[in-house]
Amino acid sequence: MLDSNYFHYTGTDLSCDDVRLEELAGIYGTPLFVTSARSLIESYQTFEDAFKALSHFTCYSVKANYNLSVIRTLAELGCGCDVNSGGELYRALQAGVSPEKIIFAGVGKNAEEISYALESGVLMLKAESLSELRAIDRIAGELGKTASVAIRINPNVTAETHPYITTGDSKEKFGIDEAELPVVFSLLSRLPNIRLVGLDMHIGSQIFDPEYFVAATVKLLALFEASKELGFSIEFLDIGGGFPVTYDPLKPATPIEHFAEKLIPMLQPFGVKVIFEPGRYLVANASILLTRILYKKSNHTGKQFFVVDAGMTELIRPALYQSHHEIQAVTFHDETVMADVVGPVCESSDFFARQREISAAEEGELLAVMSAGAYAAVMGSNYNGRLRPAEVLVNGSQVKLVRKRETLEQLIQNELSC
Ligand SMILES: *Cc1c(COP(=O)(O)O)cnc(C)c1O
Repeated sequence: MLDSNYFHYTGTDLSCDDVRLEELAGIYGTPLFVTSARSLIESYQTFEDAFKALSHFTCYSVKANYNLSVIRTLAELGCGCDVNSGGELYRALQAGVSPEKIIFAGVGKNAEEISYALESGVLMLKAESLSELRAIDRIAGELGKTASVAIRINPNVTAETHPYITTGDSKEKFGIDEAELPVVFSLLSRLPNIRLVGLDMHIGSQIFDPEYFVAATVKLLALFEASKELGFSIEFLDIGGGFPVTYDPLKPATPIEHFAEKLIPMLQPFGVKVIFEPGRYLVANASILLTRILYKKSNHTGKQFFVVDAGMTELIRPALYQSHHEIQAVTFHDETVMADVVGPVCESSDFFARQREISAAEEGELLAVMSAGAYAAVMGSNYNGRLRPAEVLVNGSQVKLVRKRETLEQLIQNELSC
């Protein structure tokens, strides 16, 4: 069982803070995302404590969970935002984040997004190619603005994680190749509407070994020194995100303090402001996906299935990354059974667990799919005509509905019948 202060049994009932999940399902229906505000706050404070000796600024990577209430909860603590698209910028602004606390990333920003970011007055845009630098310069010129820009470097460090979430390797599309940096620096002197304010990297996600960060930071610092010699005065070094969380109690994540221990002494002597962009770290274990068992069945091999009312349309991580999510019965049972927990979507990859020892819950009972705060609701879809679920935010005994369940009308609202 995944140990959590925020999702715990009171007697035989699984609760979030002071609220029984059974009660939430009764009021809001299932599937339902339940987020603990206190868990979000604790994760942010733990992160900040770990790096407090370093002059830094933490920007939550909102793509991990962009519900306005999640962004707002973190922003109220002083956290900034890292956004990846015009849509995410809009969300961050709507959540009340001030633009000078927002950094705009993304490997393929279009002209509209670049204008939107410049007009909003974000802290900086990250450029990921020479062509993009030229585009930013041209658009800033048209708007009569100077664009603050960070160059995203591809440090060619292959972090050991799932291949779909490694981003700092030369094989991948992200960032500007180190070898191209001299060209970038000389180009910048010919781009009058750009001010180089930062160097940036992001090597991947769910990275357990701090040494990958160390290796990439060594490269970033060398480039920082090189930029100084060329007369640039860079204010920000952005180390990116990728800090790990525990999904499986048998594979506990490296504590954030171990990353801080390695990175602080490396970065401190340079006297530059460090930016971190944690996404998953802040939100993954703050939410669960609450789902009801529709049917139990078995086949001739004796294999058992729990068919539940949530699926890959709400949480695609098992299908996409073969990720492990703990599954807990909302009413505790002593006995367990070996079963697959599967959703209603017409795909064989629509499962939450395979051959897992599951609490012997009955049809009609609730299961909690744990660690569903990051890359879950945001990757949701309407595939199979599914309606996006409701989301609630719990704080102590207080419950707020922060996203309504989608309706059938919303499913077709943008379609025109010709
Ligand atoms: C996705 C992303 C992050 C956050 O990654 P996590 O693994 O969720 O911490 C940070 N920075 C950039 C540029 C990203 O694309």
